[in-house]
Amino acid sequence: MSFLAPDFAPFLGPAWRAELDANAHTVVGLRPDNTIGYRNAAWDRFASENGAPGLVAWNGTPIVEIFHPEIRDWYVSLFDRVRESHEPADHSYQCSSPAAYREFALRVLPLPERRLLLIHHLAVERPHHWQAHEPGGPYIDAHGIVTQCCHCRRTRRADRHTSWDWVPAYLEPARPEISHGLCPPCFRHYHPRAASRRDEEKAAGQ
Ligand SMILES: [Zn+2]
Repeated sequence: MSFLAPDFAPFLGPAWRAELDANAHTVVGLRPDNTIGYRNAAWDRFASENGAPGLVAWNGTPIVEIFHPEIRDWYVSLFDRVRESHEPADHSYQCSSPAAYREFALRVLPLPERRLLLIHHLAVERPHHWQAHEPGGPYIDAHGIVTQCCHCRRTRRADRHTSWDWVPAYLEPARPEISHGLCPPCFRHYHPRAASRRDEEKAAGQ
């Protein structure tokens, strides 16, 4: 099933909508406040196959609420940049499962009156190259909490904060309490300016 809100209909003509409805890529249309005005059938299928039926009902909430706070502002500014410039933008992001490394490609297309179309597809799916680590002691902090990168989903060592390991067990539903952060490479991916400021501070301190 696809969904088209009446206020979004003027931005997607019937021929284009039919084409998007049949598209294998997941597509959503965003209003100026980032709420969803259109979803294609592939989006609904993806949401229910990935155990996120909540995404199907995501009509009244800005889509950026899906993103972890660590990366939310980054997406807000990406969407605003496309609205201002009227230039499409491409971005790739990770969404791995315990069994597979997965990378998605996102294309953000401008529509008139600050509407956007987000088109996603699975660009890479392969076995993980990372060494798998067993869950347990080294990853659990004094409060019983495990910190995971909200982008690559690796887990931070509680005893050595600069080390992030691939612990697939922490992606399973049965797991300890998880807090989210960004590992250094993913921090650089989402906050390049803050990362280079940090580099400069470090260099100045040496
Ligand atoms: Zn990461």
